[in-house]
Amino acid sequence: MAAAVLAAAFLFAALPLPARPSVMPAAASQLLTARGSFHIHTDRSDGSGSPDAVAAAAARAGLQFIVLTDHGDGTREPDAPQYRSGVLVIDAVELSTQAGHYIAIGLPRAPYPLRGDARDVAADVRRLGGFGIVAHPHSAKSGLRWHDWEANFDGMEWLNADSEWRDERRPQLLRALARYPFRPAETLASLLDRPDATLARRDAIAERRPIVALAGADAHARLGWNDDDEYGYRREWFLRMPSYDASFRTFAMRVALERPLAHAAVADAAQIIAALKRGAVYSAIDALAAPVALEFSATGNGHKIGQGDVFREPATAFTLTARTNAPTGGVIVLRKGGRILTQNPVPALTFETAGEGTYRVEVYLSHAPGEPPIPWIVSNPIYVRSSGWGAPVPIAVEVPTITRGAQGGPWHAEKDDESSAEISQKDYPTGPVQFTFRLAGGDRAGRYAALGLGVGKALTERTHVAFRAQASRPMRVSVQARQPQSGERWQRSIYLDAEPRDVIVRFAEMTPVGSSGAFDPALADTLLFVVDTTNTLPGTAGSFTLENLRVER
Ligand SMILES: [Zn+2]
Ligand SMILES: [Zn+2]
Repeated sequence: MAAAVLAAAFLFAALPLPARPSVMPAAASQLLTARGSFHIHTDRSDGSGSPDAVAAAAARAGLQFIVLTDHGDGTREPDAPQYRSGVLVIDAVELSTQAGHYIAIGLPRAPYPLRGDARDVAADVRRLGGFGIVAHPHSAKSGLRWHDWEANFDGMEWLNADSEWRDERRPQLLRALARYPFRPAETLASLLDRPDATLARRDAIAERRPIVALAGADAHARLGWNDDDEYGYRREWFLRMPSYDASFRTFAMRVALERPLAHAAVADAAQIIAALKRGAVYSAIDALAAPVALEFSATGNGHKIGQGDVFREPATAFTLTARTNAPTGGVIVLRKGGRILTQNPVPALTFETAGEGTYRVEVYLSHAPGEPPIPWIVSNPIYVRSSGWGAPVPIAVEVPTITRGAQGGPWHAEKDDESSAEISQKDYPTGPVQFTFRLAGGDRAGRYAALGLGVGKALTERTHVAFRAQASRPMRVSVQARQPQSGERWQRSIYLDAEPRDVIVRFAEMTPVGSSGAFDPALADTLLFVVDTTNTLPGTAGSFTLENLRVER
């Protein structure tokens, strides 16, 4: 096969190669940025290179930091930040949720596996102090696409290299394969198109709240033709391409620094993660022109702010300024709410305005690949917004008009053959009920322990179940309702820890387990509080307590 690839390479070698990147003058603003790449797999999951080999490739490409994102569930202790080959290596994780892949940066070791509903995984990542980014949101492969745009994620990839080549037609990919050995990064850049749908989605969200957009390399350095693995990538591979070197030279991020990196790994990583969280970062396609420089700021009423910042005086006139080192013929485009507000030939654009909006810039070169053309630079927004903007919209809590106890029978336990479960209730039938469990160890599949309650017709014409609960350790419990005939279940998971809390589970928010269809409370006769391997490791023991369980509307 390698011979065939070589033959194809020589056959197509006569084709014009993509241009080498334009060499740009350095600019002062480059001094206070760090160039790095995000979304990288190593041989710890489905990448082909070791962390050391990946860091060495990043050093050759001139990167200052990389963010490793091997697949996992968050229960592996992340490596401490460290310099390898002079490159700061930050260890993160790519989580698999029911709605797609979610990258968490700055996450400590999670107390239980982070899996299941995307909204819950996003909430867990935030609770644990991490920063979560939706990966490849619009992949051509449906199993990799993101499905839950209501989840409270912190960021999303506006560009993902893996998604970019998936939508190319076969002849284009073959041409790229032939050119790749000669100009790897330029060839990869030639496959990039402006991801209009993803950017439109990002702009729509940024009208409601701040959101950070990053360019994800999704670097695996492997390419194969066989079955997909559980992460949607191809299992058997024979080509280490595109190489890490080529990926890192194609595009990268520029993170704004408040002080130069000090070669102290922990402090440097903290500074970079803080800047990513804030959105003080832009993406650039280095394989088109390099080095890259962009300054983007807003000044008004004596303040000067940059990418990711929020200017809370929308009534005040302000000036937006963008400056870049793009080659002649380039254009700076200023967008408000995603729409083009104005544009100007490089190197600078200034625009005086007032009023609420989300403003960002894109810089285009005169000759860019793609259909539509890929921007050379994509900034993150500056937000000009009134004081209440961006706060989470409170869920309207309907005042319960009717409350009744849900208990129609004694509590019971359900479990697999090897796990254990015990119920204790001192003041039967109304006192707190304590459920103590131990999931059997070993294989992950099929382990569960559940606290169950027959409720007869009690759920009929009610909108939610409410109770007070606490647990012996941080855990996620799946609250389920089951139909007697079909055995079909609907669920919503809840977070519990040692702090007692009042919990409401809305029937409208319950999703089917396995099967499909909307939940009809009138047809369910059992409530279950389930501990299973979605969010609990086999071999785990613990307990939780429920009291004042009732159904309301
Ligand atoms: Zn992924
Ligand atoms: Zn990935």
